[in-house]
Amino acid sequence: MASTSFNPFVMAQQQFDAVAAKLGLDQATCDLLRNPDREYHFNIPIRMDDGSYKVFRGFRVQHNDARGPCKGGIRFHPQETVDTVRALAMWMTWKTAVVDIPLGGGKGGVVCDPHHLSLREQEAICRGWVRQIARNVGPIQDVPAPDVMTSGQHMLWMLDEYEKITGMKYPGFITGKPLGMGGSLGRTEATGFGVIYTLREALKELNIDIQNTTASFQGFGNVSQYAIKLYMDYGGTAISVSCWDHKEQKSFTYRKKDGLNLNELLEITNRFGEIDRQKAMDLGYEVLPGEAWIEQEVDILVPAALENQINANTVNSIKPSVKLIAEGANGPTTIEADQVIQSKNIWVIPDFLANAGGVTCSYFEQVQCNTNYYWPLDEVLTKLDNIMTKAYHSVSELARSRNLYMRDAAYMIAISRVAEACKMRGWV
Ligand code: GLU
Repeated sequence: MASTSFNPFVMAQQQFDAVAAKLGLDQATCDLLRNPDREYHFNIPIRMDDGSYKVFRGFRVQHNDARGPCKGGIRFHPQETVDTVRALAMWMTWKTAVVDIPLGGGKGGVVCDPHHLSLREQEAICRGWVRQIARNVGPIQDVPAPDVMTSGQHMLWMLDEYEKITGMKYPGFITGKPLGMGGSLGRTEATGFGVIYTLREALKELNIDIQNTTASFQGFGNVSQYAIKLYMDYGGTAISVSCWDHKEQKSFTYRKKDGLNLNELLEITNRFGEIDRQKAMDLGYEVLPGEAWIEQEVDILVPAALENQINANTVNSIKPSVKLIAEGANGPTTIEADQVIQSKNIWVIPDFLANAGGVTCSYFEQVQCNTNYYWPLDEVLTKLDNIMTKAYHSVSELARSRNLYMRDAAYMIAISRVAEACKMRGWV
């Protein structure tokens, strides 16, 4: 259960402060990196389908661009707050740095619930968001992408608005676009596949055969769907998945102990990643409470929904069978929970490393757009696998050689790279 006082930005700053102290960063560098470089808050007035007008609140936070243009998604969520966007922007800076791609960190959001908006209304929000921020984003300034409840269609509406404003074709303005419209093959799969590339490497190191493992997933959106797919293709058995049910306003866990049937589940899932409960029961799935995903007797847990899911209230439900946690979501684990996980000796692949496949493929998408030449799928996935595998091993080598918690090792590599870039530019 999420605690109401949870503030992701406070958590992101605490994580940063702890590692900055270990690295011995000077005060000016700390002051620079623990807050965003810039942020924009704005109104997005929309004419609704019923003829009334409604004003939505939009944000873009640019945390740091010392290593390249800011990069990061745009979330549509009814509970969006600027502090959530600040935390996510900061995590994007560490994410692009840990996989060593030439980008910085940013994030955007709109306080809205797409469940209750028509496609026309969503299009108007996308275009309104771009009109408010067009001067401050762009292919060589800050490049948005999809995130929670935004898709390729939303990206294309945003691109279209940006190109109307500038009067030029700029396919590199935004990533996660549909195929044939400047999108890259593999981008849809990239985040989920990236999680499993790192999981595969971690299991090899732990001397565990993936074919003998079981896993439980939280969330059934884009990240989780493709993570489950590749994990099962590698021979693992995914036994449970939890997801939100907006009619009931709570989540449920769906379990089949001999393994989920992904295609069957996808057929009864809506575009928000919500499984139809009645149909799942008809197909023989056990329906358990939402939090049951974390209580399963499995080897691997994959939180791939929202932040603050493994926290002081839930961490003690993790069974002793769990050897590894691969974080598909951003910020799923709180600092209190990290301490318990560490004491239980569970190997963690931290969020900004595990889920960096999405932004890495976004970077490939930009490169393809800028050269106007598109790569075949196997080329994209091979390049993605190489980057994720290399990044995983640099973090795990540092963690093992210095006896560090994996999250701290990933932070040390990322923060050092960004701090170095700021220093070399003469900022601090
Ligand atoms: N929203 C994704 C993330 O959190 C992808 C960002 C991007 O592709 O720029 O990593």
